[in-house]
Amino acid sequence: MPDFVHLHVHSEFSLLDGANRIKDLPVRAKELGMKAMAITDHGVMYGVIDFYKACKKEGVKPIIGCEVYVAPRSRFDKDGPADKEYNHLILLAKDNIGYKNLSKLVSIGFTEGYYYKPRIDLEVLEKYHEGLIALSACLAGSINRAILEGNMEKAENIAKWFKNVFKDDYYLELQNNGIKEQVLVNQKLVEISRKLNIPLVATNDAHYLKKEDAYNHEVLLCIQTGKKITDPDRMKFETDELYIKSPEEMADYFSNLPEAIENTVKIADKCNVEFEFGHTILPNYEVPKEYKTHYDYLRKLCEDGIKNRYGENPTKEILDRMEFEISVIQKMGYVDYFLIVWDFINYAKSQGIPVGPRTWFRSRLNCCLCYRNNRY
Ligand SMILES: [Zn+2]
Ligand SMILES: [Zn+2]
Repeated sequence: MPDFVHLHVHSEFSLLDGANRIKDLPVRAKELGMKAMAITDHGVMYGVIDFYKACKKEGVKPIIGCEVYVAPRSRFDKDGPADKEYNHLILLAKDNIGYKNLSKLVSIGFTEGYYYKPRIDLEVLEKYHEGLIALSACLAGSINRAILEGNMEKAENIAKWFKNVFKDDYYLELQNNGIKEQVLVNQKLVEISRKLNIPLVATNDAHYLKKEDAYNHEVLLCIQTGKKITDPDRMKFETDELYIKSPEEMADYFSNLPEAIENTVKIADKCNVEFEFGHTILPNYEVPKEYKTHYDYLRKLCEDGIKNRYGENPTKEILDRMEFEISVIQKMGYVDYFLIVWDFINYAKSQGIPVGPRTWFRSRLNCCLCYRNNRY
């Protein structure tokens, strides 16, 4: 059986477009004898943690990625139909730096580039490309659009830009989807590959698990576009081949381009993102230099707070109570948590910003302490 890895896969988090349940994906990969699989949802990474865990459970290597939208001009241009013509691009994280950069890019898509879709642009792609592999995507990829416009010079210039930024981690993506235009695009991509020495990779842009799920996927698209399945002019994919194909089906179709199949495995080998679970990761709160530890500073704040509330000579009962509360906070490892929450509440108050959930904060304090202390 040939080795093949699906590197372009949509899950249910490609909302109303992906019909693959996350938990089913690695199960299917394993059934078909594939050792790894990628997740590349449209513009988002909501599914990556569930996918990672599901893959680990099945002994399939998870590859973390995203099919991002790239604005045709800058991500800040949001003016009319021209800026709505965003291009698709597959990004895969090679390592944890790549994962961080991918998260950054996807966030920028929402916070700065959102226009119908979360969009990034070439400027941020260049800035945050480290640790990432780029594949040229489907027919909505910029290079494929240029090919379909008949503008090979533009297509080559796009390929050169990506090769220049991503070096050996840029691949021209050939798809096996039965769409007429794709056949032409595949031919032209092979020409560009030979001319510019850019490797090829085979994918299947999987939107559903099995061929027979194509109809369900059409229903999903109707819900997304507000159409009926009987509407003749509804948006539809002109194919029922966007499923998780077997390695044999992929290798058969690309039998004259074995490197496109082999490269899927090479790319999968390059991708090694590891997540660690079970640790609370808190930002470091920098305490003033004169305090050796976070605990010392928390203690000082508590002592000041007691003086503010009860004067210079608080009763023994109050001091004992403070000692008890601080000792619980320290014992439970909550010193940093309390400093961080104190920091933003204190800042808000100092700036005249209303601190609405004060009761929430206080009850939260009580909850943490009392719950841990079995007082409730
Ligand atoms: Zn696409
Ligand atoms: Zn896709």
